Amino acid sequence: MTDHQEANFGIIVAAGRGKRFGGLKQFSIIKRRPLIFYSARIFEQCRLVNGFVIVTNPSRINFVKRLVRRYRFKKLIAVVPGGKERMDSVEQGLLYLPDDGYVAIHDGVRPMLSTDMLILGFTVCRRYQAVAFGIPVTDTIKEVVNGDRIIRTVDRSGLVAIQTPQFFSINLIRRGYAYARAERISATDDCELIEKLDITPHLLPGSRLNIKVTTKEDSLICQALL
Ligand code: C5P
Repeated sequence: MTDHQEANFGIIVAAGRGKRFGGLKQFSIIKRRPLIFYSARIFEQCRLVNGFVIVTNPSRINFVKRLVRRYRFKKLIAVVPGGKERMDSVEQGLLYLPDDGYVAIHDGVRPMLSTDMLILGFTVCRRYQAVAFGIPVTDTIKEVVNGDRIIRTVDRSGLVAIQTPQFFSINLIRRGYAYARAERISATDDCELIEKLDITPHLLPGSRLNIKVTTKEDSLICQALL
């Protein structure tokens, strides 16, 4: 499928069970809209995006379909059921993309995404094939055992907290997933699978406002920011 070589796609993963939040945080209502709406809207509005897939909980597929109909999203390719782990959900999304082109993989629980981030990421991805936003770690990081015993201070220089969206050539991220499956690697982000191929993803400066809604407190911060 050579006609997709320069096309850009999105996968929004929103099939988590929200154990730390106590419910499906991707559907928590912020400013009268479910959280997932905010990142989907940015993929829809970004001029560089050709199409995107939403991966969600099997029980929420119809809800998401109604949502995208209500807002008349035209770039949505499919709403598909996720899997047990985040990696399984991303793989489900990848099934709906063409053989080549580029993809931004984004957590549906980061509503502060912007079209500028997508444009920058897709543009830089042409050069590096794998790109992620990240922010320097500013807290002192300790290693803890048994939940409350501080045993070591980690050197934080050179540490970054990585965010989504993360951008890849579709070919490369498929290779990453194939390798991870063969080697039984489990990862909490997609860049790690590229690192395992001995390829070095490119880091772009992220934003501290690009918060990940994990707890009720994050949800309150989002209310204020959105
Ligand atoms: O729980 P975690 O921090 O890994 O979640 C990051 C993102 O991945 C969330 O948007 C969540 O909904 C999604 N996810 C998923 N399928 C899973 C687990 C998480 O789509 N099985």
